[in-house]
Amino acid sequence: MHAPTRHYRHIRKLPHLSEEEKQTLSRVEGEFAFRANDYYLQLIDWDDPDDPIRRLIIPTEGELRDWGTLDPSRESDYTVANGTQHKYTHTALILAAETCDSYCRYCFRKRLTMRRSEEVMNDVRGGIEYIRAHPEVDNVLLTGGDPLTLATNKLRRIIERLREIDHVGIIRIGTKVLAFNPYRILDDPKLIELIEAYSWREKRIYVMSHFAHPRELTEPAVEAVDRLLKAGAIIANQCPLIAGVNDDAEVLVELFNRLSMTGATPYYLFQGRPTKGNAIFEVPIVRASRIFNEAFEGTSGLGRRPRLTMSHHTGKIEIVGYDESQIYLRYHRAAHEENKGRFLICHRDDRAIWFDDLDVVHTFKPGTQETNVLSA
Ligand code: SF4
Repeated sequence: MHAPTRHYRHIRKLPHLSEEEKQTLSRVEGEFAFRANDYYLQLIDWDDPDDPIRRLIIPTEGELRDWGTLDPSRESDYTVANGTQHKYTHTALILAAETCDSYCRYCFRKRLTMRRSEEVMNDVRGGIEYIRAHPEVDNVLLTGGDPLTLATNKLRRIIERLREIDHVGIIRIGTKVLAFNPYRILDDPKLIELIEAYSWREKRIYVMSHFAHPRELTEPAVEAVDRLLKAGAIIANQCPLIAGVNDDAEVLVELFNRLSMTGATPYYLFQGRPTKGNAIFEVPIVRASRIFNEAFEGTSGLGRRPRLTMSHHTGKIEIVGYDESQIYLRYHRAAHEENKGRFLICHRDDRAIWFDDLDVVHTFKPGTQETNVLSA
């Protein structure tokens, strides 16, 4: 494998597709942006039309199905300054970049790449001032887009400013670069120096990696994980459950086990959000829970750390399990006090893909007298 030498921004430039495919798929590309590099494209088995890596990055006609919204978690409700969101008490989020090295077809923030976006900060000073004025914020997530598409000097200026704020402990960098282009890390000693300089013993930099399939854990990707760990970063992995990519217990077993072994701790497995263009990537909640629980049977305790979670606009709702008549959920994080720690029992609906599709019949907060029976 070699460092990417070329990025493709138009499907018609891909040598691997037939003329007919290019014509059909350019309609999809007209709606949702396409971007890939030759490192990642060479991971695809082009003889297999259902290859999971291909599905992750090559457009398909199903994306044109009219379904979902462009801001499924209503991030606009939590935007407190240009490009800055504050949803959970201790965590602020900065959209620091508007592009990614390549584009996942199932992205829930594809709105940022569909047209020139006003949401992303080209100047982070307003967001940093907001964080400075809010001492309860001890975690800052840099995301986008992918912050590792920024020049290292620009990233350094952001991290330096955040490190000047005493109450900021953890700085997280959300990135899929480890999977899309590990050479971004391997070929840039200044990036490693930046992590060494600002991932402190009691205030770490966390790299939130996004490996979604074990075939992304190539030799250079594992090497890049190792360099970041040796530089003092902690790595935690989060990815969605994606139909046709990783909605298979055996695939998840391999993913969780290999992530644990490399030191990129599995953290969240997300239920796909109802995002425009993403109908074909959705896995219903009951099936998702079954696959997830089956995967746990094949992993050690260290592979069992991720939570299957919906990033709903009201909070992170963990899918705990189901039985013949009910689905069990719990708020892992809640945007509002009344939902913190709340359990939810819902009618079982095997077609439901999102919290809003479910009927809640009973909720309670463990350790309190509060309980609500909502319907029989
Ligand atoms: S790397 Fe993240 S932000 Fe970029 S396209 Fe993929 S899911 Fe979206």
